[in-house]
Amino acid sequence: MCGIVGYIGKREAYPILIKGLKRLEYRGYDSAGVALISDNHQLNVYKTKGKVADLESFVVHKDISGAIGIAHTRWATHGEPSPANAHPHYSSSERFALIHNGIIENYAVLKEKLQAKGYQFKSDTDTEVLVQLIEYIQQNNQIDLLTAVQLALREVIGAYAIAVMDRDNPDEIVAARKSSPLVVGIGEGEFLLPL
Ligand code: GLU
Repeated sequence: MCGIVGYIGKREAYPILIKGLKRLEYRGYDSAGVALISDNHQLNVYKTKGKVADLESFVVHKDISGAIGIAHTRWATHGEPSPANAHPHYSSSERFALIHNGIIENYAVLKEKLQAKGYQFKSDTDTEVLVQLIEYIQQNNQIDLLTAVQLALREVIGAYAIAVMDRDNPDEIVAARKSSPLVVGIGEGEFLLPL
């Protein structure tokens, strides 16, 4: 099992996320990544194969600003360990980014459905299907992220803990779980997702 960390509050998210990932390193994993909504409203995703230390080297000289972020250590189940298969995964428009622990059992059916609608995939993971499905539902219904996630998860068979961010709504992280643990930490003016 891999790790999820999320932060939203007033502090810089990146150091908190990295500290959280390091605490989860004992579990074993093959890649690590982070998504942050920067101070200038970009949704930046950085991910590498290897250790959290490799991720830290990778982001040197990159924009790691932002008071909201999600981070992940991956234990591959669908798709080899690689930067493309590491989490977070962007949606096609790069408006949404998602991390996931677990397995989407019916990902192949969902992927075919989305491909038929023109969606292209950058990874071999089951996880990317979920972020594309969320985007598809959000765009087609013009609904908020929370509702889109709820509708998407109705179509999903499997076990999961997920966290999703929306570039256009930098005040929220949507998280959900089924048959997989996830904890919400409530601080003063801040929330954490340690798992
Ligand atoms: N099934 C997902 C993948 O292969 C998540 C694996 C995990 O729990 O780290 O990317």
